[in-house]
Amino acid sequence: MKHNFGAGPCILPKEVFQEASQAVLDFNNTGLSILEISHRSKEFEEVVVETERLVRELLNVPQNYSVLFLQGGASQQFAMVPLNLLPEGGKAAYFDTGVWATKAAKEAKKIGQVEIVASSSDKNYNYIPKGFEIPADSAYFHYTSNNTIYGTEVFEKPTTSVPTVVDMSSDILSRVIDITDYDLIYAGAQKNMGPAGVTLVIIKDEILGKSGRSLPSILDYEPHIKAGSMYNTPPVYSIYVSMLNLRWLKAKGGISVIEQENIVKARTLYDEIERNPFFKGTAAVEDRSRMNVTFVMENSDLEGDFLALAKERNLIGIKGHRSVGGFRASIYNALSITSINALVDTMREFEEKHK
Ligand SMILES: *Cc1c(COP(=O)(O)O)cnc(C)c1O
Repeated sequence: MKHNFGAGPCILPKEVFQEASQAVLDFNNTGLSILEISHRSKEFEEVVVETERLVRELLNVPQNYSVLFLQGGASQQFAMVPLNLLPEGGKAAYFDTGVWATKAAKEAKKIGQVEIVASSSDKNYNYIPKGFEIPADSAYFHYTSNNTIYGTEVFEKPTTSVPTVVDMSSDILSRVIDITDYDLIYAGAQKNMGPAGVTLVIIKDEILGKSGRSLPSILDYEPHIKAGSMYNTPPVYSIYVSMLNLRWLKAKGGISVIEQENIVKARTLYDEIERNPFFKGTAAVEDRSRMNVTFVMENSDLEGDFLALAKERNLIGIKGHRSVGGFRASIYNALSITSINALVDTMREFEEKHK
């Protein structure tokens, strides 16, 4: 068995892969592949309806929010958010907690004025700044709830009265949140919801239509909402596989159940990083992510040896991102405690060998 700790695209439950592969050959006994059915067919319409229903149910999304399945990834949202929410001459507040947050702000700057309200770039983004002011005249406040590359997570939403936009690409569906705390949430599916190719957007309807900008339809949320995510051909297969994954999550007991598992998984790994004299964590303890665990070695000369042992033990994708170095274990919803234990055992084995 391979233990895939890759940051994204990432593993999905085996049952999901099995059912998804079956649907490529024969979708729901239609005699057709899911890849060839019309996106306007009754069969696929049911898929979109169920996927939306599952998102609403699992995340408890109120009726005054729209749920969209778009393309272009989280990166397209970096542009769509300011285009739709930032009026000419207006200003948006951005929280700079890592590479993705920086990219989001950079795109917004091409569209209007951006104020960086706080940054942790002084310590290579290894913590989440706290106690900063968000100007009340901002059109919106944008932040990244989980910093996939640096292994930090924002567990408490910064308080503000301005509309709040969050990139939840790497922690969506991993813990209980109150949707009404947010005005727009987006997430590229490939980290915790499904395969690459679809992006979930949840928008409070009343924040739209205020920017005064005339946008190309494809970049405007409203035509997508009016068409029920069918303004153009949607990513049929990515939506279908996401639906299977959401069914899996529901059958497991939903987000409160997976959250408890995620807490145990993260704690098991962080405990070993703290205990094992060869390793150390890189993120500030109170801001450590439950989804991406970043760590390095006390003696960085040994990192190549550990990676080689990890490979022998079938641990895949643990090499750290180049901006942090060392290792990163991405431990999203579908990664089981068995895989965490395999990594912990390998760290112990390494310790024994090098003592
Ligand atoms: C991976 C990631 C992105 C980029 O997503 P794409 O779908 O590739 O555009 C953006 N934000 C966060 C937090 C990510 O983890």
